[in-house]
Amino acid sequence: MRAIGTDDPRAQVTLAGPQAEAPDQHAPVAGPGDLTEELLNSGWWSDAMVRAAGIPVADVPFVTVGGGIGSFVMADYLRIAGVPTEHIRVLSNSDSPWQAYEYLTRVSQIPGPERLRSDSASRPDNIWGFPSYALAEAVRERNVRPVWQVLVEPVLADYYTPRVGHVLAGLERETKRIGYHQMLAKGQVRMVRRRHGGGYFTVLTPRAGTTRTKRVAYRSQFVHLAVGYPGLKFLPELQAFRTEHRDFGHVVSAYEDHEHVYELARAKHAVVMLRGGGIVASRVLQRLMDDRARYQLSTEIVHLFRTYVSGSHGPNPWNRRKGGNGFAYQGFNYPKSVWGGQLKARMRRLEGDERARAYKLMGGTNTPRRRDWQAQLREGGAGGWYRALAGTVEEMRLEDGKVVSRVMTAQGPVAVTADFLVDCTGLEADIAEHRVLHDLLDSSGAGRNPLGRLDVERNFQVRGTRSGPGVIYASGAATLGGYFPGVDTFLGLQIAAQEITDDLAQRGFCRRIGPLRSTTQWLRWAANRRP
Ligand SMILES: Cc1cc2nc3c(=O)[nH]c(=O)nc-3n(C[C@H](O)[C@H](O)[C@H](O)COP(=O)(O)OP(=O)(O)OC[C@H]3O[C@@H](n4cnc5c(N)ncnc54)[C@H](O)[C@@H]3O)c2cc1C
Repeated sequence: MRAIGTDDPRAQVTLAGPQAEAPDQHAPVAGPGDLTEELLNSGWWSDAMVRAAGIPVADVPFVTVGGGIGSFVMADYLRIAGVPTEHIRVLSNSDSPWQAYEYLTRVSQIPGPERLRSDSASRPDNIWGFPSYALAEAVRERNVRPVWQVLVEPVLADYYTPRVGHVLAGLERETKRIGYHQMLAKGQVRMVRRRHGGGYFTVLTPRAGTTRTKRVAYRSQFVHLAVGYPGLKFLPELQAFRTEHRDFGHVVSAYEDHEHVYELARAKHAVVMLRGGGIVASRVLQRLMDDRARYQLSTEIVHLFRTYVSGSHGPNPWNRRKGGNGFAYQGFNYPKSVWGGQLKARMRRLEGDERARAYKLMGGTNTPRRRDWQAQLREGGAGGWYRALAGTVEEMRLEDGKVVSRVMTAQGPVAVTADFLVDCTGLEADIAEHRVLHDLLDSSGAGRNPLGRLDVERNFQVRGTRSGPGVIYASGAATLGGYFPGVDTFLGLQIAAQEITDDLAQRGFCRRIGPLRSTTQWLRWAANRRP
């Protein structure tokens, strides 16, 4: 049997182990096959079951599902650890690893020239973090300011953060260097099931017109899941409003394209109601305030916080989180030591409720304090065009083309009439809303962690899903709540990929990235040569 997408015989998977069933040499190369009742209802599939369904099988030792930044950094690590492109398949519905990220940052008001939230050394295109973004920017622009900012942050200056455009350009370069597109198989992943004899079948529905087959089953020893956010989460009253009025223009999520809000505010006087106190709320707020100043608009903003933070807060009297103007301030979404200090070590020891409590204490909704928009907020408050409210929305209706909300505050109900409501509260739906994760929970033995997400071990193996010598790993937002809180960040995805690579090196799948390999590979990175 030939592996689909490669002519290299080394791509044939070998499943070691006592009960390993040899890959079937008589499976069809291609066929019109589809999922059968038998396959849908079985947690374990045999080669014969897949063959009987007429689904073509492609053998490759390692597949990563998603093809976003998490899959990309995983593939990057493996390539640096000596794995050839033929042994890795990235199964994704995206053309590039940054497609989902670029879309989400653009619509949530962090377009290419803007700066994002993470720090100078969090480089998803460079596992060494050197040269940092600040150093690279200083050299490129012949300006020492970025390096100076890193030296004095956060006391004398805000944290240095890279521009989205530069992050994307770096990703593009690394994508080419590691041969990402040779590893990419385009389509929608439907499910991952355990295989009798060891390993897994990952079913991909190829993009229409790209193959003659309806499904392809990737038979692999290892699977890595990095499917990003399971979906948009709408608060129940927003969902009810949209369903009742069949109106998707007046009430929008900040994670949807909502450019029409800014366009209308440029054309006529508009009142915009914002919900949420996280980084996206602060970005949308800044866009509205910047447009107001740039185009001399009269836009009014009503900002609704569920919990209004008026000052420093937290249980620890000598180490309280700063806050003000409704927002809780924190440079990054967690304290920095989560990525490599005391908190990282401490979280690895916590289980159950204790871990859930630690997450609550460190995380929650927060945003970095940036000097520029603080001044705009003060101006808005003084000018009467920015008003903050604390409360919850009890009812929403559409009246004469406006959204009328009844907000319950501590002082009693308040009616707010706005042209638009921009919801900045929820990107993250329950993991079960993602079809592949749902299937994994239902049929492949996966469970939930103390925050309700996918339960992974310290080395990112998905608990309960072992199949002979086969392992499923997962990283990214779906695994938040595990032993490593920073997992949904560039650096966190890299830390997860490093743990997984170390585990795979112990299993003999790749080389260990020790000091010598690391140094020679960095030199290759610097020279833009293949790993
Ligand atoms: C607005 C915003 C800004 C952020 N800024 C930062 C920042 O500054 N610094 C930082 O460190 N982190 C940041 N993050 C967090 C995080 O680093 C990124 O979201 C990162 O892109 C997560 O990578 P991922 O691979 O887990 O998910 P994604 O990059 O979203 O990739 C998941 C991919 O899986 C695909 N997929 C899902 N299901 C299937 C399926 N069934 N079949 C095929 N493909 C599928 C999706 O289409 C997508 O391409 C930000 C997040 C957001 C939303």
